[in-house]
Amino acid sequence: MSAKTFQAGIHPPTCKEASGGKEIQEIALPEEVVIPLHQHTGAPCDPLVKVGDTVLAGQKVGDTGAFVSAPVHASVAGTVKAVEPRPYFTGTQVNSVVIAVAEEQNTADLPPGKSVEEATPDDIKKAVREAGIVGMGGAAFPTAVKLSPPADKPIESVIINGGECEPFLTCDHRNMLEMAEEMVQGARLLLKAVGASRCYFGIEGNKPDAIALISEKVAGMEGMEVVPLECKYPQGAEKQLIKAVLDREVPPGKLPMEVGALVQNVGTTIAVFQAVTQGKPLIERALTVSGPAVAEPKNVRVKIGTPVRHVLEQCGGIKGAAKVVLGGPMTGWAQSSLDVPVVKGTSGILAIPPEMVDPEGWLACVRCGKCVDHCPMFLYPNFIGTFAEAGRYAQAEDWGAMDCFECGVCAYVCPSKRPLIQFVRFAKADILARRRKQ
Ligand code: SF4
Ligand code: SF4
Repeated sequence: MSAKTFQAGIHPPTCKEASGGKEIQEIALPEEVVIPLHQHTGAPCDPLVKVGDTVLAGQKVGDTGAFVSAPVHASVAGTVKAVEPRPYFTGTQVNSVVIAVAEEQNTADLPPGKSVEEATPDDIKKAVREAGIVGMGGAAFPTAVKLSPPADKPIESVIINGGECEPFLTCDHRNMLEMAEEMVQGARLLLKAVGASRCYFGIEGNKPDAIALISEKVAGMEGMEVVPLECKYPQGAEKQLIKAVLDREVPPGKLPMEVGALVQNVGTTIAVFQAVTQGKPLIERALTVSGPAVAEPKNVRVKIGTPVRHVLEQCGGIKGAAKVVLGGPMTGWAQSSLDVPVVKGTSGILAIPPEMVDPEGWLACVRCGKCVDHCPMFLYPNFIGTFAEAGRYAQAEDWGAMDCFECGVCAYVCPSKRPLIQFVRFAKADILARRRKQ
């Protein structure tokens, strides 16, 4: 079968050799975890605990009645030492439950699980909501909301996103190899939840072992197939994945449900299986620690709320890092503090040496058109960037700033090193603030 793909995009070096062959390892617990009460798209949670309370691993510590939100849970047993704003990976402060980790780790009573066969669509949505599951590829959109489309938007196809197209990241690849059965059963639950009949596992061609293993697992299962994808960035972006797999285009400003599709990340699909069949909340995740400035690049399983500093120490520490990035190098966030916690959407921690960081500032646009040629959303990043740089955000909106999903392709190809994503983010913040006022 030939590898499928979308139009435009780029082919950056994959840099996956350092961690790709390494099994996911458990790491030692830190002394303290920080559970942000807002680590998802939607409304923040209210705290359900106070300073001095003892909590058990898996106990809910934050929730809200808002539809678009997801509860948060203690990832460890311990004592609540603070409920206060703490640094978050986006550079802001987020109200957080800080837990001093107990020596003895006891687990809260979890809701009873149901088998894949006996769970009803309502059981699945309820379990997913209660477990606080959000998209683990980085976007952190509440999964229970995605599983509840309006009646006039039926979902026919579920796509499991095994693209992992960002350089350096390998945790989804390892998840597919080490948790293949859980992922396939999780996919069956997703199909049942939305009443879909087809399931596609989209996997980039640089993971032939995962393609072979999942193909073997789904052989003979009705409506399930593996779709090998071309290695290209951003192949793992929702709209690009749908175009490659289903040859359907999601209209600007619309969601995958418009074309009858639901996309879920590999880690999220495994979390759905664990929530429904074991009642397990989302309190840990696999992530990749890599980059030339990390002593021992590896894939690790980390309790949510673990400080980035602790995770790096468990990987031999960093040496001569000029930058530490949370997420992949294309869409990740550079950090000013290593005290920020790993959250549900953290797919990687990268330590970048000085030779990989460009110290020079950006120049004016030379109108080469490269960003236009490569933008997978067919936007004009040059115009959006120029208007946003000048503070003319309404014009940036006219040129489609809100349709940009911040993949970073335009900044990667720009010879003038223009920080086009940052320009877009400024424009979006202004546009959203104006919309809220109106
Ligand atoms: S404008 Fe947005 S969508 Fe287009 S390449 Fe740039 S970051 Fe990606
Ligand atoms: S790639 Fe950079 S220099 Fe070229 S048109 Fe786009 S913004 Fe301008």
